[in-house]
Amino acid sequence: MRRGLLGGTFDPIHNGHLALASAALAQLRLDGVWLLPTGVPWMKRDAPRSPNADRLRMVELAIDGIDRLHVLTAELERPGDTYTVDTLEGLRAGKMAGDDLYFVVGADALASMHRWKEPSRLLEMARLAVAARGSGVPPLEQLEAVAPGARGRVIELRMEPVDVSATDLRRRVRAGEPIRGDVPDAVADYIDEQGLYTAPQWANESGEAQ
Ligand code: ATP
Repeated sequence: MRRGLLGGTFDPIHNGHLALASAALAQLRLDGVWLLPTGVPWMKRDAPRSPNADRLRMVELAIDGIDRLHVLTAELERPGDTYTVDTLEGLRAGKMAGDDLYFVVGADALASMHRWKEPSRLLEMARLAVAARGSGVPPLEQLEAVAPGARGRVIELRMEPVDVSATDLRRRVRAGEPIRGDVPDAVADYIDEQGLYTAPQWANESGEAQ
């Protein structure tokens, strides 16, 4: 099987994530893309985060009825900080043994990947499929320095830019601005019903997209 894996905080999932997943599906001829909501993302450990159940539910609502998009709860079930390399190792030793794995990321995630845990081992287990997110695909020198040969494991995805980030969506919810059109309607309804992003813990979050 040729599988795409798309990790994210998904707080909330939005149309940029869905466009990234469909670009990967189409261009890499994948059997499916598995969305992987993170447990405790180590790079955003101290930032506010919605409960796992809410982030998972929004992913389920967003992909409901979409062919070849799936969700994997592996990272939500694991205690402690989430490291992609550990997730890949678990999948490789289990239900995805022998599969071709493509870890799908936006360019901003690639730009920090040299600081991730064991990028070299990560790249042995999966190829990287990268979509430019506004600024183009970043240079790979820093990743090459810690993971020699990385360049040969990176595939560039073509994608019309979708100018939306979860940070900006949360800011808009707090400001009472509409977000419909940038997230699936079912996700917008869920955010409304549950009153997500309105609690005081979110109030100090910067409004700038990260
Ligand atoms: P936040 O604003 O809270 O940092 P985010 O919108 O960047 O969140 P994440 O859940 O952190 O979303 O992103 C998961 C993955 O999706 C990352 O690889 C990221 O680069 C990618 N991604 C997020 N938004 C977009 C977008 N608009 N277009 C393409 N890729 C995106």
